Amino acid sequence: MQLEVKKQILSANDQVAAQNRARLDTIGVLAINVMASPGAGKTSLILATADRLPREVRLGVIEGDLASRIDADIIASHNIPVTQINTGGSCHLDAPMIQTALDQLPLQNVRLLFIENVGNLVCPAEFELGAHLDVVVASTPEGHDKPYKYPGMFARADVVVLNKSDLLDVFDFDVAYFERGLRMVNSVAPLFVLSCRTGQGLDAWLGWLLDQLDCHAKPADASS
Ligand code: MG
Ligand code: ZN
Repeated sequence: MQLEVKKQILSANDQVAAQNRARLDTIGVLAINVMASPGAGKTSLILATADRLPREVRLGVIEGDLASRIDADIIASHNIPVTQINTGGSCHLDAPMIQTALDQLPLQNVRLLFIENVGNLVCPAEFELGAHLDVVVASTPEGHDKPYKYPGMFARADVVVLNKSDLLDVFDFDVAYFERGLRMVNSVAPLFVLSCRTGQGLDAWLGWLLDQLDCHAKPADASS
């Protein structure tokens, strides 16, 4: 019985997620759902990316947090349009929250939208938002066992970023072991090992991102 209720809630969420996706597609916005543990570097990845993207790729950001607008203020200080969702205790974003947030962004001027999910490797994986791609950010201080412990999250990733590569040695992080765990649940998602702090490895990630933008071309009639 409980299972059925959960299924119904998810499908109501999925309906709104589909509406969000349709809206984004109509105006040619590529949306990326950024998921990770707290402190892995979601905001850092968004900022490091923003600093290196060609200027014509206009960014927008939706910041999801339990409380505070710390990350939203940092993003805004880089002159990036941002809207904050405070979930008030909920440990994940859902599609209706994104629907509301989309109303608050100048979407006509956005080409690439990052949605920073609540820091959590569990239930964000269960809620469709309407984004086109899911990036999961792991980081060296968390340890190399995360794909084994949180298979649901890593299974749904379209791309995995391993951040804080400058600290691999400090934390005895075994990248091969991490990648074997990832491949047990996900054979296709590319893995980018990088450091948002030093910039090491960011070029490969940016190349992948620009390829995704090419694949999700802006509709010709949405250019105005
Ligand atoms: Mg953050
Ligand atoms: Zn949750």
